[in-house]
Amino acid sequence: MSEEKSQRLNFIEKIIEEDLKTGKYGGRVHTRFPPEPNGYLHIGHAKSICLNFGLAEKYGGLCNLRFDDTNPMKEEAEYVESIIEDVRWLGFDWEDRLFYASDYFEQLYEYAVQLIKKGKAYVDDLSPEEIRKYRGTLTEPGKESPYRNRSVEENLELFERMRKGEFQEGEKVLRAKIDMASGNLNMRDPVMYRIIKAPHHRTGTKWCIYPTYDFAHPLSDSIERITHSICTLEFEDHRPLYDWFLDELGVYHPQQIEFARLNLSYTVLSKRKLTRLVDEGYVNGWDDPRMPTIAGLRRRGYTPEAIRTFCDRIGVAKSNSIVDISLLEHCVREDLNRRAPRVMAVLRPIKVVITNYPEGKVEELEAINNPEDPSMGTRMIPFSREIYIEEDDFREDPPKKYYRLAPGREVRLKHAYIIKCERVIKDEKTGKILELHCTYDPESKSGSTQTKRVKATLHWVSAPHALKAEVRLYDRLFLKPNPDDKKECPDFTDCINPDSLQILTDCRVEPSLKNASVGDRYQFLRLGYFCVDPDTKDGHLVFNRTVSLKDTWAKIEKKLQK
Ligand code: ATP
Ligand code: MG
Repeated sequence: MSEEKSQRLNFIEKIIEEDLKTGKYGGRVHTRFPPEPNGYLHIGHAKSICLNFGLAEKYGGLCNLRFDDTNPMKEEAEYVESIIEDVRWLGFDWEDRLFYASDYFEQLYEYAVQLIKKGKAYVDDLSPEEIRKYRGTLTEPGKESPYRNRSVEENLELFERMRKGEFQEGEKVLRAKIDMASGNLNMRDPVMYRIIKAPHHRTGTKWCIYPTYDFAHPLSDSIERITHSICTLEFEDHRPLYDWFLDELGVYHPQQIEFARLNLSYTVLSKRKLTRLVDEGYVNGWDDPRMPTIAGLRRRGYTPEAIRTFCDRIGVAKSNSIVDISLLEHCVREDLNRRAPRVMAVLRPIKVVITNYPEGKVEELEAINNPEDPSMGTRMIPFSREIYIEEDDFREDPPKKYYRLAPGREVRLKHAYIIKCERVIKDEKTGKILELHCTYDPESKSGSTQTKRVKATLHWVSAPHALKAEVRLYDRLFLKPNPDDKKECPDFTDCINPDSLQILTDCRVEPSLKNASVGDRYQFLRLGYFCVDPDTKDGHLVFNRTVSLKDTWAKIEKKLQK
């Protein structure tokens, strides 16, 4: 391999290429994505998905989807379904390799029995609190349980009776017999099985003892003949245990490799916290467009391609950091800039009457759908005597450098004419602006050999033709860059942005959007990218703003390059 090529590889690719060279796994690459079905997938999981499926793709290998469903307390079928949908939506395919750790319960039980027979596991009667106390700390060694030296026969009998349901929750556990004085707390006789008398979403009431993650995970990897078991950094200290179980049982041994999890500014990515946002009503469900879940991002208008590009660009490293959320926004902008048709919509309409334009006349003006991609063609948009422009595009008293419409000023209407503001009509009592009276210059039609120049071009819609729409604008869900920081936010909910959702109910969009269907994405000229929300029905159009057009990441990048 050339020096240059190896430098562009991330550290996991380097390990894999080395293994391929030495033939460690017979030239195979087999990864897995192992979600626990206790919540919806988030953008952090997308990083892991892209990594695992991406490596398999790159090296002609395979990637399994495996549910790590070993805890019946928090797991639900709803989560399983959402996870399957989300991984597929991201564009990955596990073919016929959809697995569940719960499918291995019988086999895992047999492995546990094997360890008991080897004198490497025992049934402990200490209570959960006592176990915690006996474990010791980083500076103090642990204390051995008085039940640690039970005979193999007694352990086998008790473990079987645990399985039969003869004991209550918390009364007994099965522990690995390793080393209570180990410098690594994970090696101080970790629990392998606990009694949980709750039905499981797949095995029902068949089991009342459930394996822990630490015991189930390496063996599930082994059963599936995974080569590289990629997980996040917090499991680095668990690796000796991962290896211990496999070595003691003498079974096929994958390699665990840890990488830094994704943290995103202005975002929380722990399922526990995301569950609280949903349960405590801070958002309207797991797919709320403000959520960093895949379902939320999809509803917000993100494309799978944008998310995959993002995962590519953040790279894979060994140390934790926080990625700027503006990079994620940049990636979706870049993608939608190319593929989203551009249309006109007015979010806060103010009426303009063009007094010298004939009443009843309608012109169809040609508008290009996307200047980035001429193959996307053109459409016709109606122009008439009454139009709407953005409230914000008019100032009665324009400040310096405000070049948009003002009394006596001229602006261009995109794809149409230059208009001049002649009169402001106000409500006599309240002083509120009701409408603007303008004149247009018939010689200034867009595309004609016009000579006149104006400083601003506004978007607009024809009043009698426009469709009513509801538009939902989103801001960051958190006010602080790091809501996980206890100093900044004692509880992460303390930093929630109270104005993260703004609903505008009286917007107008151009008539070409009449047949827009759920999930369709557009650029509303000058306003950002928008996507049709599933709440759209019976002619009631609802749009979510995916992102505005202002690209803060591009600015950051420019600075970095200087
Ligand atoms: P959370 O910390 O959000 O509760 P988790 O690790 O408990 O997540 P799992 O369902 O166990 O969630 O995760 C499935 C896989 O996704 C694991 O391999 C895990 O390491 C990985 N993963 C989870 N969060 C992130 C993240 N923020 N960045 C990268 N990978 C992640
Ligand atoms: Mg986990």
